[in-house]
Amino acid sequence: MAGNGGGAAIGIDLGTTYSCVGVWRQDRVEIIVNDQGRRTTPSYVAFTDTERLIGDGAKNQVAMNPTNTIFDAKRLIGRRFSDESVQSDMRLWPFKVVAGPGDKPMIEVTYKDERKKFAAEEISSMVLLKMREAAEAFLGSTVENAVVTVPAYFNDSQRQATKDAGSIAGLNVMSILNEPTAAAIAYGLEMNVGNDGDKNVLIFDLGGGTFDVSLLTMKQGVFEVKATAGDTHLGGEDFDNRMVDFFAEEFRRKQKKDITGNPRALRRLRTACERAKRNLSSTSQTTIEIDCLYEGIDFSTTISRARFEELNMDLFKMCMGPVETCLADAHMEKSSIHDVVLVGGSTRIPKVQEMLKDFFDGKELCKSINPDEAVAHGAAVQAAILSGNATEKIHDLLLLDVTPLSLGVGVVGGVMSVVIPRNTAIPTKKEGGFTTVADDQTSILFKVYEGERAQITDNNLLGEFRLANIVPAPAGVPKVNLCFEIDRNGILHVLAENKATGQTSRITITNENGRLSKAEIDRMLQEAEKYKAEDEELKKKIEAKNALELYVYKLKSAIKDQNIILKLSLADKRETEDAIEKAIHWLDCHQFAKIDEFEEMKHYLQNIWNPIVTKVYQ
Ligand code: AMP
Repeated sequence: MAGNGGGAAIGIDLGTTYSCVGVWRQDRVEIIVNDQGRRTTPSYVAFTDTERLIGDGAKNQVAMNPTNTIFDAKRLIGRRFSDESVQSDMRLWPFKVVAGPGDKPMIEVTYKDERKKFAAEEISSMVLLKMREAAEAFLGSTVENAVVTVPAYFNDSQRQATKDAGSIAGLNVMSILNEPTAAAIAYGLEMNVGNDGDKNVLIFDLGGGTFDVSLLTMKQGVFEVKATAGDTHLGGEDFDNRMVDFFAEEFRRKQKKDITGNPRALRRLRTACERAKRNLSSTSQTTIEIDCLYEGIDFSTTISRARFEELNMDLFKMCMGPVETCLADAHMEKSSIHDVVLVGGSTRIPKVQEMLKDFFDGKELCKSINPDEAVAHGAAVQAAILSGNATEKIHDLLLLDVTPLSLGVGVVGGVMSVVIPRNTAIPTKKEGGFTTVADDQTSILFKVYEGERAQITDNNLLGEFRLANIVPAPAGVPKVNLCFEIDRNGILHVLAENKATGQTSRITITNENGRLSKAEIDRMLQEAEKYKAEDEELKKKIEAKNALELYVYKLKSAIKDQNIILKLSLADKRETEDAIEKAIHWLDCHQFAKIDEFEEMKHYLQNIWNPIVTKVYQ
């Protein structure tokens, strides 16, 4: 059984705003609390003059250090710098993103007085590391295997990049699981689905930065994803952004001052907006109060739920489109949906719930699973199954996932020739026949795309490769077989085979724009090790400093204790006071001293005090 030794495998929901980790133990999923006792951890990493912080520690200091506190790495992962979404996100982020080699977005920070660049995978790996550490502390053993979730709409390079992030964190990512599928597993277990006939379930997952809708059928432990749809770029943060814009404008109107160029003010406003948004899910009006928001001016205002809804109405409406698409793709009527399951923090917004309920003609929505934990819950179950740690309860669960986008190659006229249509159950393997377009053509350049548009220019280029050594022949004669294979992680492998000569060659697609090379991953792994060692060192240093401070303060109170003072000689008292004074002064000037220097100072004090205190108790 999982959790009794080194073999435990964990399920991680690597969220845009929050992450959550779970493990299958004692016949159920346990959601693991972090070092702050919280069940979800902010997906934040911060760099300061002296240390790296991950999770709550990073988020708590964001207002003081906005340009070096990174969040939303998931919005960057597997994308190109020039992507429209990256460009528009960058305008709102207080941290800096620059173009790296191959148009890869790199996050630039100052860490220990040095400018450093990190790929989104590296930042995500730090969050994964934090989740891994929480699991290790909880289980009391090392954890190597994990299932990590991604939005169903993530493309190949985003999935691969997420896997890379896991490798950098030293994890063996057994599977990349779609978030709604994970949520469906949680729902299926919770509701004991399968024993009372088939069920069609729609998972509506609106989180911090992504939106997914999935339609699954469940029968006798088999979960089959019928269709998925969504928007990789819609979620709670967009609602926060609308509020930030609205209040920045209000401030400009009232105070004739523009805060939009000031990262710290923007960050503080954003935090207040997010809090107000959460409040508005349970009250009809809330206040925002920020002391000294900008140039010493306080900001105090109120916002009603109605106004919040008006600010975001177009975004809320956008959430209904994928629900329709999903039903249409699965060839199902809305009346045949048995349950609509809410997942993701943003589904707590009453207007979103109301619109969804109206869409399903007044059907009650299923709120019985915790929207923040459902995904990690399902991932933990999947991890247990894949690692052979499943108990009887989940042993027979089977997961049939689908590919979110069609995959194919470009052919004459810039047309997309689909080899694997979207919503095909994965893992899958499909083949297609191709040939040459010119006489005596000796090689073919295959360009692999994903997307639903007829023209390749409207789809997403994943990579290209060339099949060479074709024997010269008239156009259309050589026969080339292309085999597209999607593995359990939703990652694509393509094989080309020259039928005419019987010669086969295995070709790997390398997506230079999105993918990390083996060498880059190795480098990042080494750096991750280095940072881990640095973090450990810092922890020890803080412990040594705290031990010294504690000792100083104990001594200080000891020589004020009447019982001790009466037994102390004047000389001993003075010597102790001088030593304390010296230690306090030293501490003031040496906040960043080395571990052995703190220990040395403590020994110095002990050497003075121990003989004195022995005399007192004689
Ligand atoms: P997730 O990615 O599922 O963790 O969702 C996080 C998002 O849910 C963030 O944008 C939060 O601001 C949002 N959220 C959490 N609780 C609430 C709430 N009570 N009302 C509105 N939004 C919320």
